[in-house]
Amino acid sequence: MTTSSFTPMRTTITSYIDGQWQPAGALLLPVINPATEEVVAQLGEADARETAAAVAAAQASWKSGIWARKSAAEKRRVFQRIVALTLEHIEELAQLECLNSGLPLNYLRARQLPRITRNFDFFADWLSQNVEKAGMTDQDYLRFVLREPAGVAALIAPWNAPLALASTKIAAALAFGNSCVIKPAETTPLAVARFMDILSEAGVPPGVVNMVNGRGHVTGDALVRDPGVRVVSFTGGTQTGRAIAAAAAPGLKRVDLELGGKSANIITETANLDDALDGALTSIYTNNGQQCFAGSRILLQRSIADAFMRRFVERARAIRVGDPLDMATELGPLSNAAHYARVCSFIEMARADGGELLCGGQRPPGLGAKGYYLEPTAVLMPSNAARVCQQEIFGPFAAFQVFDDFDEAIAIANDSEFGLVSYLWTNDLQQAHRAARAIEAGVVLVNTPMILDLRFPFGGYKSSGVGREGIDGMRHFYTEEKTVTIALQRPAMARLGAGAQ
Ligand code: NAD
Repeated sequence: MTTSSFTPMRTTITSYIDGQWQPAGALLLPVINPATEEVVAQLGEADARETAAAVAAAQASWKSGIWARKSAAEKRRVFQRIVALTLEHIEELAQLECLNSGLPLNYLRARQLPRITRNFDFFADWLSQNVEKAGMTDQDYLRFVLREPAGVAALIAPWNAPLALASTKIAAALAFGNSCVIKPAETTPLAVARFMDILSEAGVPPGVVNMVNGRGHVTGDALVRDPGVRVVSFTGGTQTGRAIAAAAAPGLKRVDLELGGKSANIITETANLDDALDGALTSIYTNNGQQCFAGSRILLQRSIADAFMRRFVERARAIRVGDPLDMATELGPLSNAAHYARVCSFIEMARADGGELLCGGQRPPGLGAKGYYLEPTAVLMPSNAARVCQQEIFGPFAAFQVFDDFDEAIAIANDSEFGLVSYLWTNDLQQAHRAARAIEAGVVLVNTPMILDLRFPFGGYKSSGVGREGIDGMRHFYTEEKTVTIALQRPAMARLGAGAQ
């Protein structure tokens, strides 16, 4: 199948409110295939009024208890149907996702979209296991915590893993009994829209999951500010995270912010260098280089640096760049025109800051003039102060630096506004433990690329975010706790006004 012969099911994506697809409003935005630059669908932007209608539907469904009061067993059955239907439609979802994101189809099928079923499987299992505990305070009181849904959750997702990330938020919001409104990125609504049909068919009642579409400063902002929204879960850029936190503050809404990164990948002379090479390439070039946890600063110990860079460059040059629908493709186009221009601008910036271009830095020859393609790029930088070492590029763009001793590597790793993840390749156990303590990041990975597991927290230090996605963080984020205290015997109480009797 070629890119141009594939037609998405829905050519106009509108809001999905209370179980109904809405008619398109006045403003239509083009949804563009980044591999061909063709318009593949139209997006009906939800204004503040339509966004308010989506929140109202979510709130009504939440207050009715139609979902929140279902038993854990009933919720679990719905989750299991979501998993089964997702698997049934995985090919269609993968093609839709590929069409508007440019992510390689093969990668979507094998790696990214299985996260949807893992998310719902995880929470289906959790629903069957979770119990809240009661406790005694000495012999005087029985106390327990009632955990209640927070209410209406606004879920705002980015374009680099559109449905995989949206599904994490939807699964968690639903598992804890909330209703929600999802807003995908305006450039990547196709698979998320199709997923609304799957949720409905699986038995999620109307109004429990709603979807609005549009640009961040219009639809997203209206959603965050809506007084009916209680919590805002956001994954995206750091600047946007700041705007969302500010917009949520007057309503005292809880925010979870999963933001950008500039993660260090430290490779020492004791490491298994074959593994480190695979890990370094994976951490910067998969997902079209658009990963929040990209190992985008590769720090090499001097004794191994030259040989490692030579091997890295050889492999980077051999990465198959091209049509994301081609099953052999390893690296597709960047997500959209503005992002492509921004990523390419870092090539000149690296040179201006004294960097040496090791590979890439241009459009791959032979792919024609269309599509936002960039060769896998790597530069060697003289200092961590360079802009390509400080700013998140979010593309297939690695910045190497060389260090002499381990303390220097840790200092470079921490010399960043960001603190999402950090990678270390070593066979020195003490170094691994030192890095685990000294690195200022929410996740430290030793001798492995990123692995996600909802049993463990995922999130960032510093400008990489606020809050954690992972079962404990999500439990706190998506619920309110109510402590109930029952006296088991008459408590000691002052007897005001009883003195004269
Ligand atoms: P973005 O911040 O531009 O957009 C993300 C979403 O926010 C989109 O849906 C957008 O429409 C919406 N938005 C934009 N402005 C808004 C506003 N003022 N109010 C409400 N919503 C608004 O991010 P992006 O460019 O789509 O995604 C890339 C970024 O996401 C990168 O920085 C990447 O590191 C980050 N990211 C982080 C994680 C993580 O888990 N930490 C995961 C994936 C991506």
